[in-house]
Amino acid sequence: MKALVNKIIPFSLVDGEGNRFSVFLQGCNFHCLYCHNPETINLCIGCGACIDKCPVGALKKDEKIWYDKNKCIDCDECIKGCIHKSTPKTLELSVDEILEQIEEVRPFLSGITISGGECTLQRDFILELAKRVKTMGLTLFIDTNGYIPIWKDKELLDNIDKVMLDVKSFDREEHIKLTQKPNDSVLENLKILLEKKKIYEVRTVIVPDLLDNENNVKNISRIIGNIDKNVRYKLIKYRSLGVRRDKLKSYTPEDEYMKKLMDMAKMNGCNNVISSL
Ligand code: SF4
Ligand code: SF4
Repeated sequence: MKALVNKIIPFSLVDGEGNRFSVFLQGCNFHCLYCHNPETINLCIGCGACIDKCPVGALKKDEKIWYDKNKCIDCDECIKGCIHKSTPKTLELSVDEILEQIEEVRPFLSGITISGGECTLQRDFILELAKRVKTMGLTLFIDTNGYIPIWKDKELLDNIDKVMLDVKSFDREEHIKLTQKPNDSVLENLKILLEKKKIYEVRTVIVPDLLDNENNVKNISRIIGNIDKNVRYKLIKYRSLGVRRDKLKSYTPEDEYMKKLMDMAKMNGCNNVISSL
């Protein structure tokens, strides 16, 4: 069992509880206007157009693209030159290969988080890794956009510990405008996974002039407050870094506005509301 991995961060303090080994999988089913890593969305089709862009010869093509992580200097010229908006900087890693890396840092970890891209697109890999991680006494969280109805997947839910769920918009049409996909399954996941006590954190990005942020926070926090009020609700400030300006014109919201939204979420019964800086 192998996964297409975009990146691994051996120590992360922002991907769930405690110190976590975070695995970012390649490929996403959303096309968010504010995506900071749009090259993680599409899978490489192996056209080879990026090979010559690499100044250190870290890329090769035969029947597929080979990426040499040890040679790479992370200049990202290959990503800038990819006409398919993808990246050649991915590795196919087996569960055993990832477990070997986890073993090296095991004493310092609280758990593993699988993120993306959209990790649930590689569901079988998550399941296999989760089963193996359990035997090591570590927790496994997934970080998801909630489009796949994971609440129906009993086997997966029984093997993962918690879900970190993005709820990008409460309004169906606004969600389609932002991500190109509707939010029906996202809201179902939100409600049912809260009921099942499977959610560690819910996140909403606050994007002035694009989203009805007050409507989103009001309705999402009501659901959290009514079902599992101690679940953390994180409001994230939109930042333009890495976002294509031709796609989205917005700005970073002021602290005062974030505080107003946090107060609204608390009024709706959420006990644990935080905001990104
Ligand atoms: S990021 Fe790495 S693989 Fe891509 S062009 Fe730069 S050195 Fe080459
Ligand atoms: S990363 Fe892009 S340019 Fe490079 S081989 Fe893949 S699809 Fe082609």
